[in-house]
Amino acid sequence: MKTPVPEYLLEIRDACSMGDDGQLADYIPELAAVDPDRFAVAACTLDGVVYTAGDADAKFTIQSMSKPFIYALALRDRGIRRVLEKVGVEPSGDAFNEISLEPETGRPENPMINIGAITTHTLVGPLDATEIERDTAVQEGLSAFAGRPLDVDITVLDSELRTAFRNRAMANLVRAGGIIDGDPDEAVRGYTRQCAYTVTVRDLAVMAVTLATGGVNPVTRERVVSDEVARQVLAVMATCGMYDAAGDWMSTVGIPAKSGVSGGILGALPAQVGLGVFSPRLDAHGHSVEGVRAFERMSRDLDLHLMNTA
Ligand code: GLU
Repeated sequence: MKTPVPEYLLEIRDACSMGDDGQLADYIPELAAVDPDRFAVAACTLDGVVYTAGDADAKFTIQSMSKPFIYALALRDRGIRRVLEKVGVEPSGDAFNEISLEPETGRPENPMINIGAITTHTLVGPLDATEIERDTAVQEGLSAFAGRPLDVDITVLDSELRTAFRNRAMANLVRAGGIIDGDPDEAVRGYTRQCAYTVTVRDLAVMAVTLATGGVNPVTRERVVSDEVARQVLAVMATCGMYDAAGDWMSTVGIPAKSGVSGGILGALPAQVGLGVFSPRLDAHGHSVEGVRAFERMSRDLDLHLMNTA
């Protein structure tokens, strides 16, 4: 690519931020109140240089983009084998909020769907952690990935907790099946809180590149997780991160990624780059319409597809 990165990202903003297709998430009332026309894009290189374009200071909640990082912390704190006993790694092919449990084991199919993410949330922190200890481990862990202290948006947290009936039902199901221990309401509170951390596209790009480097945040130089954990997370993002559009995403974009209903998408291309996009209108799968468009375009322009052979 000949165009310098900042100009290129402005091109992406201009090319991808002009429609009004898609709809705001409204099952979390507070998310329906955001400005739908915001658009921002960021890239972070392996040596920690961040480029942004658009509404780069816009803050939004991390939502499901927290899931790969919480999975990483659970793998770090419990080890891969113990986590695999509780949550599988098979794409469910179903929506993010489906009750996708393996019939033989009762394990959630993967940690990227809600039922699996509620389960992995309970595996973060010290064994027998109290709710506060687990919340602290989550706060410290997400902040280490971002390279700065992250805070919870209490309004979004309260808004989602008031309507989290389905997630509560799922937490009770995995509790009844012996997959999680402890109080299922505590698991939902903690999971909902993990989804309510506020981030910018810059944070998404830095968090993503910290997986792409094999676990070292290139901005702070802190090793957050091991190479082995980062590889496991990237693999599960590649196969399960985009829910029931994961196959379509892998064939067209080809970058391990995770989306959130707040309108963000982050992508981590192993040993190459971390990318973040924010635009709140969503498609039927719950992915940002303009975010998908921006990723498709960047993958094509910059030859980022993981399966490129030339
Ligand atoms: N907190 C949201 C939920 O549990 C996250 C969903 C998403 O971002 O896909 O429903």
